[in-house]
Amino acid sequence: MLLYVRYTISYLLIMNELERKKYLEDIKNNLTIDQIYDFLADAGGEPQMHGDMIISRTICHNPPGQGSFKLYYYDNTKLFKCFTQCSDTFDIFELTLKIKKLAGEYIVYWSKEAKQESRPWDLPDAIRFVASYYGIEPPDENFSEKQIELQDWQIFSKLEAKKLQKVNKQIISLKVFQADFLKNMAQPKILSWEREGITPEIMKIHNIRYNPCTQAIVIPHYDINNNLIGIRERTLIKENEERGKYIPAVISGKMYNHPLSFNLYNINISKDNIRNIKKAIVFEGEKSTLLYGSYFGLENDISVAACGSNLIDYQVKLLLSLDVEEIIIGFDRQYQEIGDQEWKKWTEKLYHIHNKYGSIIQISYLFDKGNVLKYKASPIDQGPDIFMELFKNRI
Ligand SMILES: [Zn+2]
Repeated sequence: MLLYVRYTISYLLIMNELERKKYLEDIKNNLTIDQIYDFLADAGGEPQMHGDMIISRTICHNPPGQGSFKLYYYDNTKLFKCFTQCSDTFDIFELTLKIKKLAGEYIVYWSKEAKQESRPWDLPDAIRFVASYYGIEPPDENFSEKQIELQDWQIFSKLEAKKLQKVNKQIISLKVFQADFLKNMAQPKILSWEREGITPEIMKIHNIRYNPCTQAIVIPHYDINNNLIGIRERTLIKENEERGKYIPAVISGKMYNHPLSFNLYNINISKDNIRNIKKAIVFEGEKSTLLYGSYFGLENDISVAACGSNLIDYQVKLLLSLDVEEIIIGFDRQYQEIGDQEWKKWTEKLYHIHNKYGSIIQISYLFDKGNVLKYKASPIDQGPDIFMELFKNRI
């Protein structure tokens, strides 16, 4: 691997300007929108697919998981446009350079390689990174012949699988917060959640608290080893929902944000059961895991939450590290009726997950065939019976 990386660099140096440009264009033009989507997801952009366009958080100038959704990718031009700070158009190589500049602030497995090098990157570094990310072979002396092979992107899926098998060994360290102060925060009865079915015991176990300053429910996030890596708040004030129902908590002037994609909520609690049963249920929101624990008991809890409707490499790797054999996706019902525009987008996303990971692990879905769930409901929102029905009939 290292050898071929060196080889790429040396080759890129001796390539003439025209050849290099051609090589770059070839890589760029052959990347499918799905591959760009993966790239953005892995970099913490929480991308959303919109036909032949992707909308992502502005990871070009913000750390992962932050920034507004103002970074657009257009498949017809293969270019990104940032509508805020950068207000600029750029390709995937330039985006890589931009991310690398920010990577020093955040430890993200995706840019692990980028982070370890403190020297600034230039274009050949970015090319090397993008090529190795997608498992693209470097060009060799027979450059013109090689181009035909470059069209054969099939190889990507194989490399993807190989990449994933390696993952278990990769250790990611997110910033860990001191957790002691949480003890001093109130733990009142949260009636709105109790009414929905979450028991006070489960809330206690998850260390759910209340922040009187913001009038919000405080949801600490722990990594697989029980380190506090972030805190989110669910506001109880209707007007504040505009900023987002769930936002990073600010307590005593300190912001407890973290890149949500680099963890699975509740995995610190459900990991042993997941390891024993070799199955994990992935919900979107934290609350679904609390409901699951309330209905079926902690001793049966195999649920985690992706905290978004994407499942990225890192999260799959976390589950693989628990020897999981089946991942059961229980995302919210993000469509009004089967066949509508949202349904198409929703099923596309599920197909995408299946295509990406289906060859290395069994993926099933809690699919609402019988139309029992309400719009935007999680499979567990309407009680244990409906959940069990969906679970039994998962596809
Ligand atoms: Zn930007």
